[in-house]
Amino acid sequence: QTLKIGLLFGGQSGEHEVSLVSAKSIAQGLGQNPRNQVMPFYIQKDGVWCDPERSLNVLEAGKPEQIDNSGQFKLPAAANEVDVWFPALHGPNGEDGTVQGMLQLMQKPYVGNGVLASAVGMDKVLMKALFAQAGLAQVKYVALSRWQWQQEPEEWYEHIETTLGYPCFVKPANLGSSVGISKVRDRSQLEAAIHSATSYDPRVIIEQGVTAREIECAVLGNEQPKASIVGEITYNSDFYDYETKYTPGMADLHIPAQLPETVTQAVQDMAIAAFEAVAGSGLGRVDFFYVEASSMVLINEINTLPGFTSTSMYPKLWEASGISFHDLCDRLVDLALERHKPIV
Ligand code: ATP
Ligand code: MG
Ligand code: MG
Ligand code: MG
Repeated sequence: QTLKIGLLFGGQSGEHEVSLVSAKSIAQGLGQNPRNQVMPFYIQKDGVWCDPERSLNVLEAGKPEQIDNSGQFKLPAAANEVDVWFPALHGPNGEDGTVQGMLQLMQKPYVGNGVLASAVGMDKVLMKALFAQAGLAQVKYVALSRWQWQQEPEEWYEHIETTLGYPCFVKPANLGSSVGISKVRDRSQLEAAIHSATSYDPRVIIEQGVTAREIECAVLGNEQPKASIVGEITYNSDFYDYETKYTPGMADLHIPAQLPETVTQAVQDMAIAAFEAVAGSGLGRVDFFYVEASSMVLINEINTLPGFTSTSMYPKLWEASGISFHDLCDRLVDLALERHKPIV
C-alpha cells in the first residue's frame, strides 16, 4: 500500500533557501522506499502554497520562485490526498508550530515536533527558561523586547555590560541558521546589533560570549527518545555564522567528536533532557558549548527541525549511529504515524 507523503518546503522564513536543500535530500531519501509517494508542496516566500506539479519544478531547480501571484493563501486541492505530512521547513512559519497547528487541525499525521515543542523550541527566550527549569547549565543571558529597548536604551546597555560584558551575542528570539545574529565587542556594535536583530523579531536575546568547542547531538523518538553519537563542528571564522554554515568547505564536521567519555555521556543525557524539557517528539538537534578549560558542558539550543541535507549534522550523526539517510526518513514517518491521534 502506498503512503502519500506531503513534503512541505520553502516557507515564509529567513531560512527559505536552506529548506529547499533539505527538502531535495528528503525527497530522495523517501523515494528509496517503494511504499512512499512524495507529493511536494512549495510554500512561496509570501506564504502562498503551490500545487505539486509546480512545486516539483521548484524542488528540482532548488531556487526560490514566485509562481503564484494571487497573494492568497489556499490549500491546493491535492492536499486532501496526503496521508502524512513531512514539514521540511526551517525557522519562523514552519519550525515554530504555526504549520504544525494547521496540520494538526487537518487531522493528518505529520513528521516531527508538535505545536508546543515547535513553538518553545523556536523561541530562544522561552526555550532557555525551560532549560533552566530542567536544571541544564547554560550561558548567562538577557531577554529584551524592542519596546523595552526603545524606552530606555542606555539603561539596557549598562545592564547588559554589567551582567554579561563583552563579547556578547545578540540574537533574534525566533530564527535559525545564524540569521540576524551578531557578535559584539563594544557599545556601538551592541546598539547596531540590537537594531539588526529587532528587524527580524521584536523579541531578542543577548548572551554572554563563551570560548568553547561546538558540539551537537541528535535525538530521535517519541516517548523514549534516543541520543545519537556526538559530533563537533570546527571552522576558522569568528563564529558559526550563516556564511560559514552554508559555504562548502568553510566548516568541518567531526563524527564522533573526540571528547572524554564522561563529556560525551553528559552531552547525550543533556540532549535527551532538553528534548523532554520542550516536550519534543520525532526529532531534535541539540547544540552545546564545551568549555574545555573548565570541562563544562553548556546547552546552547534545540532545533526542532534541524538542517536535513545529506551532509547536514542531524542525518550524519544518525548515519554514524547506524541509521542510513533513507531509513531515517522512513523512521520519522513511522514516528509520525505512531504519535498521531485523530481528533474525536
Ligand atoms: P541554528 O542554525 O543551529 O538553528 P541559530 O540561528 O539558532 O543556529 P545559535 O545556534 O544560537 O543560532 O548560534 C549560532 C552560532 O553563534 C553558534 O553556533 C556559535 O558559533 C555562535 N554563538 C551563539 N551564541 C554564542 C555564545 N553565547 N557564545 C559563543 N558563541 C556563540
Ligand atoms: Mg537554532
Ligand atoms: Mg535552526
Ligand atoms: Mg545552533
